[in-house]
This record gives sequence, structure tokens and C-alpha cells, in this order.
Amino acid sequence: MTETTPSIFSRIVAREIPATIVAETDALIAFEDINPQAQVHVLVVPKTERYATVSELASGDPQLLADLVGMAQQIADDRSSGQYRLIFNSGEQAGQTVFHVHAHILAGDLGEGSLVGR
Ligand code: AMP
Repeated sequence: MTETTPSIFSRIVAREIPATIVAETDALIAFEDINPQAQVHVLVVPKTERYATVSELASGDPQLLADLVGMAQQIADDRSSGQYRLIFNSGEQAGQTVFHVHAHILAGDLGEGSLVGR
């Protein structure tokens, strides 16, 4: 059996490291990005870390992906105008640094850094 270290996001789910949590269900958690690139910059993350990218999530658990998008809309409605960018960096060359699937919600004043990881 291979042992893997929990991802940084799993450690947030487990409350081992602090985060500003803005929404949570049995399967999803959303928290503020530690290095915000827009007025509103929240990450929405499945609690399971079995999916590294959005395409893995889409094929492995499409309902969970749909629920993630629904949570993103709710957060954008609550914290901004309901209009937002939803970004999934997929792969190192695209700027992905945490290989536990997550969506970036960017809303409000998008400023200079609106394309995360650019
Ligand atoms: P990505 O580059 O798409 O993999 O995005 C990873 C994101 O996680 C980056 O925007 C980081 O700023 C963010 N991040 C990393 N560690 C933490 C943390 N402890 N709390 C909140 N956000 C984090």
C-alpha cells in the first residue's frame, strides 16, 4: 500500500491548518485564497483529493462537479454581483500548483491578476 501525504487542501478540511472558510457541505469546502488575485478570490474544493484535475472530476463524479459550480455561483451571488470567472488550472504548465482539484472564483474588481497563474 502506498502512503501519500495529505494535500494542503485536505489539511484545511481537517482543520490542521487555518483558512477563512466561506462555505461547506459534506462534500465541498470553499475558503479565501491566501494570495488573492481579485477583490473576491475564493477556492472551491471537493473534500476528497482523489481527483487532481477538473477533467478527472468530470469523468469520475460529474454530480460533484455540478455541485461545485453551484457553490461557486452562490458565493459569487453572496459576495459580489453574481458575475465571476471560474478558473481550473489543469497541469503544471497551466500554473497548477496544488494537485487536488479546485476552482478559483474571481469576482468584483478583477485587477491585474485576473488570469490566475499567468
Ligand atoms: P493553483 O495554482 O491553481 O494550483 O492554485 C493554488 C492556489 O492555492 C493558489 O492560488 C494559492 O494562493 C492557494 N493556496 C495555497 N495554499 C493556501 C492556503 N493555505 N490557504 C488558502 N489558499 C492557499
